[in-house]
Amino acid sequence: MQSLRAMNPIRVTVWGENTHEKKSPVVAAVYPQGMHNAIADGVREFLPGAQVTTATLQEPDHGLTEERLAATDVLTWWGHMAHDKVEDRIVDRVQKRVLEGMGLIVLHSGHYAKIFKRLLGTTCSLTWREADEKERLWVCNPGHPIARGIDRYFELPQEEMYGEPFAIPAPDEQVFISWFEGGEVFRSGCCWHRGNGKIFYFRPGHETYPTYFDKNVRRVIANAVEWARPQGVWIDSCPNAKVAPEPIKSKAR
Ligand code: ZN
Repeated sequence: MQSLRAMNPIRVTVWGENTHEKKSPVVAAVYPQGMHNAIADGVREFLPGAQVTTATLQEPDHGLTEERLAATDVLTWWGHMAHDKVEDRIVDRVQKRVLEGMGLIVLHSGHYAKIFKRLLGTTCSLTWREADEKERLWVCNPGHPIARGIDRYFELPQEEMYGEPFAIPAPDEQVFISWFEGGEVFRSGCCWHRGNGKIFYFRPGHETYPTYFDKNVRRVIANAVEWARPQGVWIDSCPNAKVAPEPIKSKAR
């Protein structure tokens, strides 16, 4: 008998701002095919049954047409220097799909993406430093599906530091907390639910480091994609239920 997964492959759209790669030779050297393609390859590596495609800011509708989003189960988002170039009507469209049930995986500097701030409702600010320092990501809940296959912790030899306070609403579930060589800590793997959509924020992924080639990072993103696959359809209507399913006798008239 075919498994449910085999019958219904997860349709993943990997969205990339695709701007640093074009402007910085340093970033282009790390990600010659663009960061979005490295992220997409990582999802394919750990979820070989998934249908993974990419979309970028430069495409019409940023590659996120109504049709494309309707055919997307999970959207991953990497943006940084062009957050303000993302059109509000596209943000509205993505928000609607998340409420309906589409999963959203927000990566690294996507903490300041319009769609992330819209869905969480807070500033999502944080502290940061670029000092080529080590990051150690601790697993908070080894039983969480996003931590599947990950040891007690894993390390990235060089990353940008993100530190607390991280101005987010308290996560529904905490999967990772990072420690940095310089001493700061950060809530680096956070889950929320909005409507029927699942949202996961995952911190690593500064553009000048080869983070999206790291096996553990790839595994976590793939695990998050599986975790965030749609669970149902959110209703957006308030009908007047004039006809009750049972006769109402007690109402005083
Ligand atoms: Zn960064």
